[in-house]
Amino acid sequence: MKRVMVATWDFGFKAVAKGLAILKSGGSPLDAVEEGIKVVEDDLEVLTVGLGGLPNFKGEVELDASIMDGGTLRCGAVGALKHIRHPISVARKVMELTPHILLVGEGALEFALKCGFKQEFFWKPNAREKWVEMLEKIKREALEERSFYGKVLRVMRDFWRETVSVIALDTNCSMAAGNSTAGLFMKMPGRVGDSAIIGAGIYVDNRTGGAVTTGVGEIAVNYCLSKRVCDLMSMGLNPHEACEKAICETLYLKNFINGIAVLALNNKGDVGAATSLKEFTYAYQDDDMDRPELKKIRGILT
Ligand code: ASP
Repeated sequence: MKRVMVATWDFGFKAVAKGLAILKSGGSPLDAVEEGIKVVEDDLEVLTVGLGGLPNFKGEVELDASIMDGGTLRCGAVGALKHIRHPISVARKVMELTPHILLVGEGALEFALKCGFKQEFFWKPNAREKWVEMLEKIKREALEERSFYGKVLRVMRDFWRETVSVIALDTNCSMAAGNSTAGLFMKMPGRVGDSAIIGAGIYVDNRTGGAVTTGVGEIAVNYCLSKRVCDLMSMGLNPHEACEKAICETLYLKNFINGIAVLALNNKGDVGAATSLKEFTYAYQDDDMDRPELKKIRGILT
């Protein structure tokens, strides 16, 4: 069995390269996922992931992240976590040190500080400016709060749809998955998205494979999307078929503006992806490759 790493979007390139190097040097799939995601959290050019990125409506960055081990099904997540540089590492601590799965807000921050993480205050370049620009636009258009969030989702197409979501497969068929995001730009304070919800934004089981999402998180939560893809794979669909079927199912009632993407890797190393966004890119690397490859797919509606 060869090692495989996959990750969402162009910046997934860095996550995959780092993760595969870790697997090759004997690290576990959990290590590969965590360290791969940390590279993207640290990337100053990526405004949709990590501390200092695009904030909520009030100008505060609230981070969601989760991690899952495919062998034990143990998992950990944080939601609306502020001021911590590596939410993925806090999610791992939730998994390893607590009897819980998801900690949010103040409680998540308190736990992170107890674990030794430091509180930090900084903006990535341009993030604050984009927030101010958006606020001004809202004032100019005198949007009421009720219509405001719908409008934001329409306007923000190019900004918000990028979570780093990663799946790792090792030579012994052991798997892990994880993700990290600043969530939707201009979201309501306190909003927690799919990335923190096990079964929605992430699921992995060594007996079948894993799936992760990116896009409008509410869709993944509503349709339990990652778990649905894993269930479809366990019924015999290949990752591509499972992703396509699950994405088609999310279009049933058209309750949401815009779309979602799902990326899946089964325990044989086969990959699949599908999206209701216009397009979606993911990074892939296995043992036989020197560097990751980016693959672009078109939305099923385009
Ligand atoms: N799924 C993320 C969220 O809804 C956003 C994204 O992937 O862009 O928080």
